[in-house]
Amino acid sequence: MDRRSENELFLEYLERMVQITHESNDYDREAYVQLIHEICETYHLAKGVVGFYLNAEREQKDDGDFFCDFDNGRGEKEVIRIRIEARSKAIILGMIYMAEEDELESPEAKEHLEMLLRVILGFVSRRRLQQKLEEFAFSDEMGFRNFRSFARYLITANKNNALGGKVAILFDLHNFTMVNQEIGRPNGDAVLRRFYNMVMDVIGDGGTLSRLGGDKFIGIFDRKDKRQIFEILSGVPVVYDERGMKRIRVSASAGVFMIPNPYMMKSVGDIMDRIMVPSQVAKRQTEGAIVIFDEKMKSEKDRVKRVQKDFWFGLEQEEFKVFYQPKVNVETGEISGAEALCRWYKNGKIIPPMEFIPILEMNTDICDLDFYMLDHVCGDIRRWLDQGQKVVRISVNLSRKHLVDVDLLDHIMTIIDKHHVPHEYIEVELTETTTDVLFRDLKRVVSGLQELGVRTAVDDFGMGYSSLNLIRDIPWDVIKIDKSFVPKSDEAENKTALLMFKHVSSLAQDLGMECVVEGVETVEQLGILRNNHCCIAQGYFFDKPLPVEEFEARMNRQYYPIPEDEMQPEEQEQSE
Ligand code: C2E
Ligand code: MG
Ligand code: MG
Repeated sequence: MDRRSENELFLEYLERMVQITHESNDYDREAYVQLIHEICETYHLAKGVVGFYLNAEREQKDDGDFFCDFDNGRGEKEVIRIRIEARSKAIILGMIYMAEEDELESPEAKEHLEMLLRVILGFVSRRRLQQKLEEFAFSDEMGFRNFRSFARYLITANKNNALGGKVAILFDLHNFTMVNQEIGRPNGDAVLRRFYNMVMDVIGDGGTLSRLGGDKFIGIFDRKDKRQIFEILSGVPVVYDERGMKRIRVSASAGVFMIPNPYMMKSVGDIMDRIMVPSQVAKRQTEGAIVIFDEKMKSEKDRVKRVQKDFWFGLEQEEFKVFYQPKVNVETGEISGAEALCRWYKNGKIIPPMEFIPILEMNTDICDLDFYMLDHVCGDIRRWLDQGQKVVRISVNLSRKHLVDVDLLDHIMTIIDKHHVPHEYIEVELTETTTDVLFRDLKRVVSGLQELGVRTAVDDFGMGYSSLNLIRDIPWDVIKIDKSFVPKSDEAENKTALLMFKHVSSLAQDLGMECVVEGVETVEQLGILRNNHCCIAQGYFFDKPLPVEEFEARMNRQYYPIPEDEMQPEEQEQSE
């Protein structure tokens, strides 16, 4: 190559390079690679490498990206190295290698080559930086696409009229906190990634999948992939160790919105609303539940919002009333106590607790209702005492939501003492809990109340997964056997139920606890109780929960008639 031609060639390369790299968003990659190859041939180069580190710290750790657009395999000798620190703190490197026996022809040639390399590096840094920024903006710390990426997908698809007919989904992995505890965080992360990839492999180009944080994912996909994706969500084995030997079963509960066709979204919230509602329903159901949105669910969500909004007004206006359901000694018929149950009088109608208590338990509103109830119960007891009426012990329900409140005992006692109610007139009903942490709090609260002379009852025993530790480790005064545990009759098909009932009630008695049986509705059930020496019953057989005036009348009467001729079931069988 003679001097002139090198100079001319250099100017030509420079011009072409500037042209190609000027519009960095949409550059002509083929032209770019072609040019690099020509330059390498002209200067007898063996290899050119360009590198990019996000910052000096990453450079130190050698955590960067490297590209090589030309390499003839003979690049043993580095002849040029350029390191540029950009204003953004990014580090850009350019290296040119030649074969051992080759040399650059002149100092000018080296200078020209350096100049070309700088143009290339400027271009690369711009492009990489843009890509990195994009990665940062649209992915999370673990490299998953984030919510912004999902929202961008929705908005673009909506603009292109491409949302109709697709499926939107929001899912949570089942019990993932426990998975992390069992197999360790790094393995847990690997499981997340593999599960994500499994779903993403099916979604392909037809949609997107983003992580909302933790083990929660949100996505959109083609209707044809629905069956395959639901299959994965309902449970698949996922490898979690390096060598691929250990697998864990992962499933997810999901809320799904089948987007109608055609469909125009007004805002991202339209889609979010329609997948969040069914996903909450799914979470309350069994493992791996997939719940599909329908418009009725939206009205359920509105109902929840309305109850939460109306609650405070109702509390202020004293719309909540205490109903009392008597507890009766099955041997003597004497009223031994009563449970205070809440009723909401709203616009002339009575709303039963199951329609609002679960909603109030979504946050801590329930705690305010419980204190309100305790306050009103104590007010009633005080009045009965002052009027010289017969008074029985009243139990109030406390939601488990109170358990984390370290000042709970103080709050309870302040209310009771404000009304100067002797502590033995109050009983507190608490339901079982399943986690260790709550179990510890439960134990603290029950022991504390006991020391202050307030009785405690474990409510709904037998429902859910009651454990024997619950009655071994916590000093309850009363065990309330749930209505689902009470045999309907003592016929053969109820044999297991009858046996369990027998043993649970005798266990309670042996441990010195009072045993109250809920939901006693029939004379047969009363017979079963008497046969098993369970002495207290609460149920429709005697009375439903009553408004205060009616309850006062019962309390003053003191006794319920117990059917005289009610036969012991064994005797009945024998006499037939
Ligand atoms: P719970 O504490 O287990 O109360 C017993 C429930 O069983 C009451 O339902 C009662 O009416 C019902 N019941 C009583 N006898 C019978 C019977 O013979 N047959 C049938 N089928 N049911 C019977 P209610 O009043 O609808 O209350 C439902 C639940 O709502 C209560 O269950 C309790 O968990 C909760 N609750 C009610 N009031 C309050 C409150 O003030 N605070 C809190 N935290 N929870 C409350
Ligand atoms: Mg109760
Ligand atoms: Mg109960």
